[in-house]
Amino acid sequence: MTKNTLYITTTLPYVNADPHIGFALEIVEADIIARHNRLLGREVFFNTGTDEHGQKIFEAAQKAGKDVQDYVDYYAAEFRKLKDILGLSNDAFIRTTDANHKLAAQEIWRLCDKAGDIYKKAYEGLYCVGCERFLSEKDIVDGSCAIHKKPPQVLKEENYFFRFSKYADKLLEYLDNPKAIIPEWRRKEAIDFVKSGLEDFSISREKSRLAWGVPVPGDDTQVMYVWFDALTNYISTLGWPNDSEGKFKKFWDKGETIQFAGKDQVRFQSLMWQAMLMSADISTTKSVFYHGFITSGGHKMSKSLGNVINPITIIKEYSIDALRYYLAREVAQFEDFDVIMDKFKESYNANLANGLGNLVSRVLKMAVSYKVEIPEKVKFLKYPKNEFLDNFEIQKAANAIWVWISELDGFIETEQPFKKIKTDTVQAKKDIQQLLKGVYEVALALQPFLPETADKILGAFSGNQAKEIGVLFPRNES
Ligand SMILES: [Zn+2]
Repeated sequence: MTKNTLYITTTLPYVNADPHIGFALEIVEADIIARHNRLLGREVFFNTGTDEHGQKIFEAAQKAGKDVQDYVDYYAAEFRKLKDILGLSNDAFIRTTDANHKLAAQEIWRLCDKAGDIYKKAYEGLYCVGCERFLSEKDIVDGSCAIHKKPPQVLKEENYFFRFSKYADKLLEYLDNPKAIIPEWRRKEAIDFVKSGLEDFSISREKSRLAWGVPVPGDDTQVMYVWFDALTNYISTLGWPNDSEGKFKKFWDKGETIQFAGKDQVRFQSLMWQAMLMSADISTTKSVFYHGFITSGGHKMSKSLGNVINPITIIKEYSIDALRYYLAREVAQFEDFDVIMDKFKESYNANLANGLGNLVSRVLKMAVSYKVEIPEKVKFLKYPKNEFLDNFEIQKAANAIWVWISELDGFIETEQPFKKIKTDTVQAKKDIQQLLKGVYEVALALQPFLPETADKILGAFSGNQAKEIGVLFPRNES
C-alpha cells in the first residue's frame, strides 16, 4: 500500500565546481517524481542542498586564494539558484555547514559508537583525494584509483573505523527487497559486492592534517570524513535528532523514502549509509535510484576537452522546459547517455516547436476562429493517473504523452475540421471540442515534466471560450 507521505532527495553535490548537466538530470528527475506525487495529493518533502566539507573543497578554496567559508558560501548560493533556473519544487536546501546538520552528524556518530560500531586504530593505507577515502585493493587498477585514474597517496594515521563488516547479513536482507535499488542490475552488483566481503572503513581524519570538517564527539584531535557527515543530511534536513516539528517521524520514519544518485554512488548510498542507519537504529531508505552518467561527444566532460555542457547555457538558448523535456524524455534513465547539441536541437524542433507547440497553437486557433466553446466536461478533468510515474519510469511516462500528442495530430489530419467547418459545421465543432479536451488532458499530464508550459496551456482554458497563447517553443534555426 502506498504511504501518505513521500520523502525524496538528491545527493548533495560538492561545491567545488559549477552545477553541471549530470546533476541537473538527477534533480529534474527527482522534481518530476515530487510534483507527480503532490498532484496525486500526497504530502511530499523534497530535499537537496550542498556538501561542503572535505579535503577537495579545502584545496579548491586554497587554490582560489579564498577563505574556505567564503568559498563554500559562494558556491552554495550558486547551487541554491538552481531552484529558479531549473524550475524546481524542492522544499529544503540543506548545507552540511549548517549548525543543525553538524549536530546531527555528531549525534549519529554517538549512536553508532553506542552500538559498539566505532573503534580507533592506527592505519596506513592508500588514500585517494578524489574519492575522499582510503582505497581497498578492489579500487586500484594499475596502481591508480579506478575512478580518478590517479595514483593514491600513502597515508599513515590513527583513525576511527566503522564496523561495516558486521552489517553484511543485514545489508543482504535489505537488498533482498527488489525496490531497494533501481535499476535491478545495480541491485545485483551491490549484492555481489556485499558477498565478496566487506571491510571496515575509516570515518575520521586527524585534525592536524585537515581541520575542515565536523569535529568527532569527545575527541578534539579528529574530524569526521566528509561523506560520513554528508550522508547524515538526509535526516538532518528533517530536523533530526530533535525533530521538534515532527518532520523526521512523518517523512522518514513513517513515510516512503526515496533517494536519487549517480551510478558511482551505490556503495555510499545503498551500503555505507544504510549500515550507518542500521547501527543507529533508524529506518533504512526504501528505494535508491541510480542514474547513468552524461557524456558529451562520446567523452567524459572536462574543461581540457572543451566539451562541458552547461545546463544554464542551454536554458538561455532554449528554455527551462526545453531542458526538462530533454532530460526527462531523451536522456536514458539508467544507462550512460551521450548528449550531442545538434541532436538536442533536432529533438527540440521536432517535439516541442512542432509536436506539442504546433498542436496547441493549431487547436486553440481553430477554437478561437470558429468560436467553439470549451466542452463542459473539461472543467471536471483532473490530473490523470500515471502508472509509469508511480513506478518511477520517467522516460516511458514522457513517451506516452508524446504518443498522445501525435494521435491528436493524426486526428486533425484525418478529420480536417478546418475544411469540414464549411460543409458540416456541427461535426467540425464537435471535432474541435474533442481536440480541446485532448490538449487540456495533455497539459494536465505534462504538469510534472514541463510545469511552466502546462500552466500556460491550462491558462488558455479559463471561461467558456479558449484563448490563444503565444508561441510556446519558437523554432531554433541557429
Ligand atoms: Zn578516486
